[in-house]
Amino acid sequence: MVMRGAVETVLGSFTAAEILAVLEEEPPSERTVILACAVGRRTLTANDKAALLAVWVRIESWTLAQVDKAIVAVAGSTPTPDDWGKDEAALCMRMSTVSATGRVAMARTRQGQLGGIGAALEAGILLTGQAFDLVTAVGSLSDDIAEAVVASVLPGADGTTRAELRKATSKAVIAIDPDGAASRHVAAKRDRRVRLYPAPDNMADVIVTLPASEAETVFRALDARARRDIAQARAAALAADPTAVVPHVSLDNARADALVDWAQTQLADPDLPRAQGRRVELRVTMTLPCLLGLAEHPAYLEGYGPISPDIARELLPEGRLRRLVTDPVTGHLLDVGQTSYPPPQAMVDFVVTRDATCILRGCSRPARHCDLDHRVEFSHGGSTSSENLACLCERHHTMKHKGGWRLVTTRFGDLVFISAAGRRYPVDRESVDPSFVRGAVCSDVQGGSGVPHVPGEVDTGSRLPSPSPLSSDAHYDMDPPF
Ligand SMILES: [Zn+2]
Repeated sequence: MVMRGAVETVLGSFTAAEILAVLEEEPPSERTVILACAVGRRTLTANDKAALLAVWVRIESWTLAQVDKAIVAVAGSTPTPDDWGKDEAALCMRMSTVSATGRVAMARTRQGQLGGIGAALEAGILLTGQAFDLVTAVGSLSDDIAEAVVASVLPGADGTTRAELRKATSKAVIAIDPDGAASRHVAAKRDRRVRLYPAPDNMADVIVTLPASEAETVFRALDARARRDIAQARAAALAADPTAVVPHVSLDNARADALVDWAQTQLADPDLPRAQGRRVELRVTMTLPCLLGLAEHPAYLEGYGPISPDIARELLPEGRLRRLVTDPVTGHLLDVGQTSYPPPQAMVDFVVTRDATCILRGCSRPARHCDLDHRVEFSHGGSTSSENLACLCERHHTMKHKGGWRLVTTRFGDLVFISAAGRRYPVDRESVDPSFVRGAVCSDVQGGSGVPHVPGEVDTGSRLPSPSPLSSDAHYDMDPPF
């Protein structure tokens, strides 16, 4: 408060417009932040408000440069073989491991090899989105060509819009590397992938990045199949009743249905590899009262998270019900002590369902593809019990055993990771809450939605994921790219 008073006193003799004119001219700094806050508390004209917005946008760029520096300070300026600092940075940023991989790589690039971008951000010359676009646009180029492209576009970047700078960058790439289109395509092709993002209303997005010709192949196949399905459904309905009013199914919906149909066929293959002793199927978990329609608790779709009980109940008739073995009163197996290192299948089912994913916060690796870690090691007297077992993905399991990280239980019974740097990261209790799993029923559904498709137009939009170097841990990325 003393500082705020001093700032107001010093600024008292200047109008907001005078102060803002100075702030728009000079590179952003700590001083700019303080002065912009002070000006913002005044009564401003419409012109002042517009100028203040322009100042704050430059401060946003400056702030991003500071965050980049902080990321590099935690994660290191270059990747190491283990790169555990990246995981610490992910937890500090409250990001998924997958998203943090791209974010850390971006910071390292902007503060390292393409340091001109970091400097332009800090000077408020590049907007935050422009800095992202520029790194992405040169990502498939060799180091020297990338540096030449950046050096060529930065001098004219101040004051440009995001689209203008993208165009200027494309022109510079062609001018500097006119023969490199083929090699750029080869590099970009290495980044082809399928990603999955949760969406509201029990929906999810599957986003596929492919070479253009292969993407066209996929789309045309789905489109042709969708047109045939619509025509056949219509013909069948009219054959049964020539006066029938055939419900409209949009092409968008029919293409999506065709893709699901193909996927269901694949999951029916009995030769697919198993995970945690079970076939690869969708798993829905819900409480018994919920299954019986006596309660409306959220159900859980493995990988996705909570789904509405109505939709879960519609899925269940297609699946094989299995009571999770969770109740100690009934004598079901939850602790085999030191009699066996590998847990019995019932215990595996319980722990995998309880943890849902790797238990390190932000890691979305599905539990069924994780290791079952004995938190207190078996060789040190740890029991093979649901209490002592936790799902850790291969990376974070290794981090615990070789990276200096520890997983401890507090005196209140909470699980906490302690990083090599000594920072504490509590395990998200929601994902390991046994009260939900206790007495629950789970059902493996043979790869389908038993949910009737609702006719109607769907705007597929043109939303694209953030390009980022990915680990094979990716399943759902819980940080949507949009
Ligand atoms: Zn993990």
